[in-house]
Amino acid sequence: MLLLPVVISMTPMTEELGKILAKSLLSWYRENKRELPWRRDRNPYQIWLSEVMLQQTTVVAVIPYYERFLGIFPTVEALAKAPLENVLEQWSGLGYYSRARNLHKAAQVLSANGFPKTAAELLELPGFGPYTSRAVSSIAFNEPVGVLDGNVIRVLTRVMAWDFAWWNNESKNILQKSSDLLAGMGPSHEINQGLMELGATVCTPHKPNCLLCPWQKNCLAFKKGKVLEIPQRKPRKKSEVWVWDVSIYSKNKKIALIKNDYAPFLKNQALFPGKIKRQTEKPKTFDLKHGITHHDIYIRIRKESGHPPKSKDLQWAPIKDVKKINPSNLLQKVLQKIAAKD
Ligand code: SF4
Repeated sequence: MLLLPVVISMTPMTEELGKILAKSLLSWYRENKRELPWRRDRNPYQIWLSEVMLQQTTVVAVIPYYERFLGIFPTVEALAKAPLENVLEQWSGLGYYSRARNLHKAAQVLSANGFPKTAAELLELPGFGPYTSRAVSSIAFNEPVGVLDGNVIRVLTRVMAWDFAWWNNESKNILQKSSDLLAGMGPSHEINQGLMELGATVCTPHKPNCLLCPWQKNCLAFKKGKVLEIPQRKPRKKSEVWVWDVSIYSKNKKIALIKNDYAPFLKNQALFPGKIKRQTEKPKTFDLKHGITHHDIYIRIRKESGHPPKSKDLQWAPIKDVKKINPSNLLQKVLQKIAAKD
């Protein structure tokens, strides 16, 4: 049997096509954009906050958190002055607490030095990756830089019928150049939000509404009948198996916590003392299982009767305050399991 070579399309977006796409996207976005609280004006702090909250969380889930957070910390200065504990408390429920920690750290730099207007400067701040820097500088300050997130990657790969492995550096470069090209046809704050909006509301992963799409006439995936095959699915990273032996020391309704310098998750945060080991298979017995990013953690809990190992990083925390000290679900799950065992 003759095997035909797989043809991967990598034809770059031309300036001419970019102009056509930018024009139709702009008029569609102006008519169809959703009224979202962070779109009321172009305040950089509010845009930044919304972008950070929207990482890993949906718009509908974010809105009440966003409104409440902004009510308590209405400015960068208010956020910078607040104790980290209060910030984490307001973040509770959104997960991925490193986002809140970085937000707090960056707020201190921003309140001292002012808000930079370019993605290159924003990139230097804690928690600002390429996407957040570009989103904030373009939406708040109209810098002509393109953004790439899941929505934008899907829309661009489909309109160009790019069936390449979009997560490779070479492919990412092509995507970034196209996004920059579109943003350069400005205003970039509308082009970028338009791209994200198109991906979120029309060019959705499983049920794209091509009939309502402003790009349908030019969409190569639509013409080729390959809409649902593009973008390629990224192979999932295999989860690592970790076995965590937790030592629980308690006295007078307090529990021993140490600064985590031994586990590969929740680094430098308050955690129960213990030992952790990576294994190839899950253990036969365990008390709990918890997943953090690509770690499958099998937890074995042991109540200790002696004293915890001496350490300058040890603290005796009232059990009721553990959630404030480290709001991760992982600690709460362990505490609930101990309470159920007692
Ligand atoms: Fe996406 Fe369909 Fe629009 Fe193409 S025509 S960009 S596949 S919604």
